[in-house]
Formats: sequence, C-alpha cells, structure tokens
Amino acid sequence: MERMTIDEIARAVGCPGSYPGAVDVISTDSRSLPEGCLFVALEGERFDGHDFIPAALRSGAAAAVAHERRDYGPGTVLYVKNTQRALMEIAKAYRAKFSIRCVGVTGSVGKTTTKEMIADVLSCAYRTLKTEGNLNNEIGLPKTLFRLDRTTEAAVVEMGMQGLGEIAALADVARPDVGVITNIGVSHLERLGSRENILKAKLELAEALPDGAPLLLCGDNDLLSRVRIPRLDVRFYGIENPACGLRAKDLREGAGETSFLLCGEFGELPVTIPCAGRHNVLNALAAFSAGLALDIPPEKCAAALREYMPSGMRQKVVHWRGITVVEDCYNASPDSMRAALETLAGHPCTGRRIAVLGGMLELGAISERAHREIGAFAAEKGIDLLLAYGGDACYYRQGASEGGIPAELFGDKEELLARLREEIRPGDAVWVKGSRGMRMEEILEGLYKGE
Ligand code: ATP
Ligand code: MG
Repeated sequence: MERMTIDEIARAVGCPGSYPGAVDVISTDSRSLPEGCLFVALEGERFDGHDFIPAALRSGAAAAVAHERRDYGPGTVLYVKNTQRALMEIAKAYRAKFSIRCVGVTGSVGKTTTKEMIADVLSCAYRTLKTEGNLNNEIGLPKTLFRLDRTTEAAVVEMGMQGLGEIAALADVARPDVGVITNIGVSHLERLGSRENILKAKLELAEALPDGAPLLLCGDNDLLSRVRIPRLDVRFYGIENPACGLRAKDLREGAGETSFLLCGEFGELPVTIPCAGRHNVLNALAAFSAGLALDIPPEKCAAALREYMPSGMRQKVVHWRGITVVEDCYNASPDSMRAALETLAGHPCTGRRIAVLGGMLELGAISERAHREIGAFAAEKGIDLLLAYGGDACYYRQGASEGGIPAELFGDKEELLARLREEIRPGDAVWVKGSRGMRMEEILEGLYKGE
C-alpha cells in the first residue's frame, strides 16, 4: 500500500476536522496491527473491533475508525456512522488514486477459478494484482485494493454477493473497466426469489462499467446469452452456442487435462489446460476473452493457461496408487455438482467412476429436490457408485437409487472412509466434493493417511 494521509482518509469517510499523520497499512484485524497503521474496528459475529481500539492505539496504531463513541484513551479516533461502510469508502478513495486496468469477475459459480486464470493471463503482460483466495465481499475487496501500489498495472477482483445491491457497492469501489459474468445458476435463489433476479444482481457489474467497456459473458448460459447492452462492448464466449465470438471446439479430456481448439476473430489455436471438465474450459475461455480485451495475443494467453495451477481444494487432480482422486472439497452447489459429475462421467479411466458427495448447504426450500436431482443426474451420467454423507445427502441416495445406480448413505465419515477403502482399486476415478461445511477434505486426509 502507498501512504495515505489521515486527512485524506477522514475526507473519504466524511469525518470533519483536520488530522496529522499518514498510514501505510490499513487493518481490520486486531491481531495484526503494525506500528503506524489505521485500525478499522468492525463488528463481527464473535468479536467487536471496538473492544480492541485502546490496545491498538497504545501499541502504536496511528488512528482508529469507530462507530461507537466510547472512551478509547489517548490517540486519534475517526468517528463514522458505520465502520464497514467506512472501510469501503477508504478503499474507494485509495483505488481512485491509481489508473489501472481492472477486471471485475462475478457469477454464480466459477468466480475464483476464473479470477485465477485471468490473473495468470494478465500477468504475462501486466504487473497484476488479484483477489487473494476467495476474499470477494465488502471486507475482502477493500483488503485486495489496499494492496495496489505505484507498480500495479492491472487488477482482477472477484465479486461475490448474496442479494441485490451488493455487486453495485463492490463495483462502485473497485471501478472495473472490464466485466466478466461466469454464469447465472441457482446459488442464492432462496434470497433472490428467481434466476431473473440473480441475473439482475449480477448485471449490476455491467451498470458500473464505463461506456464502451468490454462485458464478457458466457454465451452457453441461457440467461446470459440473451443480454444486450448497446452502451457496452458485450462479447460472448462458449462451447455450445455458435453465436459466441470466442469458442472452444473439439474438446478432448486427458488425464487431468483438457485440449480444445480455440476459435475467434484471430483464427484457430490448439490449446491445452491442466484441468478437467467443460466448466473449466468455459473458465479458460473467460480468461482468453479478458486477455484479448487487454490486447494480449491468444498464443500468450494459451501459454499462460498451460501453467495454470488449481488453488485451494478446487478440483486438484491427484494420482494416488493408480487411482485418480479429484480433490474438490472447497465447496458445492447444484451447478458445480453437475459440472463435477459430468466431468467425472467423461473422465478417461480404466476402472469405475466413484462419486463421494457431501451435502450441499444453504439451499433452503429447494434443498431436498436439489439433492434428489443431483443423485438422479449421477445415475443418468452412469456413475458407478455414489457414497453420500451429511446434510440432505439421503436425497442424493434416493435420486441415485431411483436412477438405478448403487448409492450408499453414511452418517459418519469414518464409516464412509472404510467403505471407500474397501471399494477402490487401481484404475478407478474418485471425485470427492461437498459444501465447505461438510469438510470433505477429512475423507481425503484419512484416505492418504491410512496406508
Ligand atoms: P464462491 O461462491 O465460493 O466464491 P466461486 O464462484 O468462486 O465460489 P470456484 O471457487 O471457482 O467458484 O469454484 C467452485 C466449484 O464450482 C469448483 O470446485 C468447481 O467444482 C465448480 N465450478 C468451477 N467453475 C465452474 C463453472 N464455470 N460452471 C460450473 N461449475 C464450476
Ligand atoms: Mg470464490
């Protein structure tokens, strides 16, 4: 982060008065408060940052931002209406100091993967800052933007949301000049009521773009393919939809990698990415599209994506004792479950295809049906065995059994693990996936440990 004067910060948060000094670190974490930082006191579920202000000021924080008036002892405190909003306002003022290219990425699933791929592509031509991990909300986005410095040339920021207005707020702070929407699925359906409303929420990103800016949309998505915004340079990418300007054709799955022919205005280019599944081809197409929008030649984009490394438990392919294990424990939703099962079904292996699925959380009223449909989908795709665990996983079993494939339900991970160990043989492919709260990685740890 570059230095920001406390006066600048006070102006950004609408705090009257004049203050001496400057900061070069802004922190919301009471455990990490370097000397001379600004401490923004957020109220969390378990902790209230206001409780830590006196200690922060005593240990050398240059100033604190608070919305509760208390006696914090000696030191500078900027009082605001809401510290969370203030954090966004400071980030907005900080972001405005830089003239960079900025790609905003949203969508129901695939945001982090797409963001990572875009960052790989942009990094071959620009000094690129990206959202670390999954920090895609009103705390994570400021955190990302505070890492901008004089050397940054481009940024790619992930934008998540749970309801209307949230993407608009994030985009107002990040000011992207390229937008990417990966898809419109069913995540957050409960809160937003309909997929049309989810589309509306994601399109807040489009509204924030300047005139003529590229808006990159997955043309294979039924709702996105209908989007028309004359003010913007709307470009579609896809596999199925022939109307897409950028397309992947002739997909071939290898062991943990996928090859395809990339077709666009530039002609045709053979491409290989080190990950499995059509959904990852779509994510890669988004990255190509972003690279092209920022004038990076397709060959350079392809070379960057060849080296792409899946991050944080997202579909990492591991070869273990002759068995292909796909570690996909980061999260699950109906959309990503379908993508995973489809990929598992198409995986070239000599043995059987086994799906180890933990429940999908936060689906509300549609949960039972969604789990049953995923079970049925696994059967339709010819998965050989489904081992289900946790949450509403009993409906996976129901759907799968009705579809005619063997499916077993476990209330305990140890039992599931024992069954899996007994079942697997060299040549098999095993896909392990579930919602974050299911902690399906414990099954993997157990599998590798129990030699
Ligand atoms: P979150 O809402 O947690 O931030 P996200 O949108 O960032 O999720 P990723 O973390 O990239 O999504 O991917 C989550 C899972 O979704 C992956 O492990 C993968 O199984 C699946 N996935 C990734 N890309 C797609 C896609 N384009 N379509 C469908 N499923 C996908
Ligand atoms: Mg994410």
